[in-house]
Amino acid sequence: MIKTIDDFAVEGLRVLVRTDLNVPLDGDRVADDGRIRASLPTLTGLMTRGARVIVCAHLGRPGGKADPRYSMAPVAARLGELLGRPVELTADTTGPAACAAVAAVRRGGLVMLENLRFNTAETSKDDEQRGAFADQLAELADLYVSDGFGAVHRKHASVYDVALRRPHAAGYLVQAEVDALSRLTANIRRPYLVALGGAKVADKFDAFDSLIAAADRILVGGAMAFPFLVARGVKVGTSLLEASQVAAAAELLRRAVPGQIELPSDVVVAPEPGGSGTVVAADAIPVDQMALDIGPQTAARFASALFTAQTVFWNGPMGMFEREPYAGGTWAVAQALTHGEAFTVIGGGDTGAAIRALGFAEGAFGYVSTGGGASLEFIQGKTLPGLAALEAS
Ligand code: ADP
Ligand code: MG
Repeated sequence: MIKTIDDFAVEGLRVLVRTDLNVPLDGDRVADDGRIRASLPTLTGLMTRGARVIVCAHLGRPGGKADPRYSMAPVAARLGELLGRPVELTADTTGPAACAAVAAVRRGGLVMLENLRFNTAETSKDDEQRGAFADQLAELADLYVSDGFGAVHRKHASVYDVALRRPHAAGYLVQAEVDALSRLTANIRRPYLVALGGAKVADKFDAFDSLIAAADRILVGGAMAFPFLVARGVKVGTSLLEASQVAAAAELLRRAVPGQIELPSDVVVAPEPGGSGTVVAADAIPVDQMALDIGPQTAARFASALFTAQTVFWNGPMGMFEREPYAGGTWAVAQALTHGEAFTVIGGGDTGAAIRALGFAEGAFGYVSTGGGASLEFIQGKTLPGLAALEAS
C-alpha cells in the first residue's frame, strides 16, 4: 500500500517534493505550464497544512553540470505567479546554499532547488554515486513526497534512492495518475482503442508488444507510422523515419490480428515543414517531400473508430501540430475524444501540450496524464522504480 500525504501530520516538517516541472520554454518564459499547474494541489495542500515545502525537479538535459540555460528560474517565476507569491530558487541543488535556503523556510512556505540534473549523480547508473547524492537531498528533509509522475519510471536519485532514505508518500498527482492509469491495466471496458503517434519512435516502440495483446485496435499516426508504412513496402520520401524500427514494425504487422494495427491511408506532405501542405495517398509520398500529418480521410477514419470505443489511450500527436497546416490530424483525434462515451486517457508531454494549444479543455477528457514514458510503461504493467520505492516501508 502506498501512503499518501494525507497519512502524515506534516505541520512544521521539511517536506521534499519531487515534481515533474520539465516544461517547454520559449526563451526565458514557460511556453506551456500544464505540468506546473498539475503540481499545485500537492504544493498548496502541504503549504496550507503548515509544512515547509522544498520543491525539486529537473529541466531539460544539462548533462550533469550547472548551465544557466537550464536554470529552473523561469519555472520558479511561473510557479510564483500561480501561487500568488514569489518562489525563491536556491543557487545550488544541494550543499551549503541549499541548506541555508531550506533552513530559512517557514511553516507554510516554499523554496525551489536548482535543476537536479546539474549533478551527474542524479541520473547515474552507479548505485553508490546516486546514493551519495540522495543522502544530500535527504538531509534537507524530514519527509519525501513523490509527485513527479513523469519521472517515476526513472531510477534516479531524486525519484528512487531518496525515497528509501526518508518516510515517503505519494502526492495527489501521483495518486491521481495511478488511479486513472489503473483503469487501463485491469477490468478494461471494451472496445479498447489506442492511438499512437509522435516523434520519439524508438523510445515507444517496445510498448506495441504488450499493446497488441491488450488493445482491440491501434491507430498509428505521426512519425510512428513511417516504420510500418516502410515495412509494407511504401516509400516515405524525406519523412522523419526511424529506420532501425522497420524490422520490428514488420514483425508486429505479422503478429497482430488482421486490421488491428491501422495505418494512415493519406497524409499531408510538404518539401519542408514551412508553408501549407498537400494531401496525397500514403503510398504516393513524393521522394523529395515529407509527411507531416495524417490526411483528412485517415483523420475521419480514426475519429469514427474512436467513437465506438469504451476505453481509449492516446499518446503522441498525429502530426507536427505546432504548425497550423499540420495540426488537423491531432485536432480530429482530440475532437473525437471529447465526444463519445469512452473513458479517455491522454499521455505524453507534447500530446498534453497539443490539446491545450489546440484549445481543448483538459476537463473534456477522462484524464490527461503528465507522464509520457511513465504512463506508457505503467499501462504495459512494468514496475516503475519511483512507485516501487514508495511501496517499500
Ligand atoms: P509526446 O511528448 O506526447 O510523447 P513525442 O515527444 O513522441 O510525443 O512527439 C511529439 C512531436 O512529434 C511533436 O513535436 C510533433 O511535431 C512531432 N511529430 C508528429 N508527427 C510528426 C511527423 N509526421 N513528422 C515530424 N514530426 C512529427
Ligand atoms: Mg515529447
